[in-house]
Amino acid sequence: MQENLRIVEKDAPLKKHDLIVITGAAGFIAGNLVRYFHKQGFTNIRAVDKKPLYEWYLHVPGAQSLCLDVSLEANCRRVCEGATEVYNLAADMGGMGFIERFRVECLRSILINTNLVEAAYRAGARRYFFSSSACAYNTLLQKDPHVRALKESDAYPAMAERGYGWEKLISEQFCEEYWHERGLKTAIARFHNVYGPHGTWDGGREKAPAALCRKVIESMDTGSRDITIWGNGEQTRSFMYIDDCVAGIDKIMHSDNLIATPINLGSSEMVSINTLLSKIEKIAGVKMNRKYDPEAPQGVAGRNSDNTFIQQVLKWEPKTKLDRGLAATYTWIKEQYLKRKAGERVGIG
Ligand code: NAD
Repeated sequence: MQENLRIVEKDAPLKKHDLIVITGAAGFIAGNLVRYFHKQGFTNIRAVDKKPLYEWYLHVPGAQSLCLDVSLEANCRRVCEGATEVYNLAADMGGMGFIERFRVECLRSILINTNLVEAAYRAGARRYFFSSSACAYNTLLQKDPHVRALKESDAYPAMAERGYGWEKLISEQFCEEYWHERGLKTAIARFHNVYGPHGTWDGGREKAPAALCRKVIESMDTGSRDITIWGNGEQTRSFMYIDDCVAGIDKIMHSDNLIATPINLGSSEMVSINTLLSKIEKIAGVKMNRKYDPEAPQGVAGRNSDNTFIQQVLKWEPKTKLDRGLAATYTWIKEQYLKRKAGERVGIG
């Protein structure tokens, strides 16, 4: 991490009509973030994604929705025009099944952040947010399911997740230097597995909580009780509920003590994938026949978020218990599943 040599000048208070730009807004986290700011009373939100409008999970009334590819410089300029704050949550990404298979696509997301941070700087934006990931951490520290939780300094010496993790690490560096060299106030959050309603639940990019909910729902629908778990199910993770994630983004973005400083944004409630499934079974009221696929993508053996730093700086950390967040997620995925079965168009990711 770089030493913070710049003096942090106080911003004018953010006004409700200041322009907030959020990229990746057809997707899970950015879509929920647009809704969050709208609920806070912000009236000038520009939501951007390359997907056509009918594929967006959330449509927030009053927000300007633009379908543009922000890996292109000219589009980034257009998108950042007049912006007070820019939140970059656009990335070509998915669960382990996607990021292990499509490393080139993941690496190419470097174009998004590179062009967007420059455009935000040129447009005179006051603050810029980058959505990094726990995949930026050194993989050698994650070889055991009972690993100690990862703290911010564990990204270096670097041995990030191939493809996706390296893109995050380099983009973090861009954000750090735009502050040190050019004075753009940047915020960098390393998300640890986010889950909840309005996220990818089918199609190959979904992550473990959504994938397991869908598989349980499918099996109850078809009458089969078989479920295939990737690996031996003993791999561990922590999962952060979406409401905590968007509240955390707001806090991190607006803290003068966190400028250009990567920080964990994740739950510290670590569970194995087997336990995660047991929780979903309890919600669904069913017992599955578990089969294991040792050849399937599994990612690191264990990963958890050390929240000491976020507690220290913000006196806050994600709070939603996994059981409660999973129940809401399961209910939403079941609704989507039934709608799709009834022939309605639903976003899947
Ligand atoms: P998501 O896939 O639901 O949303 C990402 C959106 O970005 C998609 O709608 C996609 O169409 C859009 N996008 C991709 N390339 C684009 C481009 N060139 N121009 C415009 N839009 C483009 O993913 P998410 O879960 O909402 O993740 C948001 C951010 O958080 C990403 O940066 C991701 O890497 C990061 N992150 C997410 C998690 C998680 O658990 N969901 C964990 C760690 C980090």
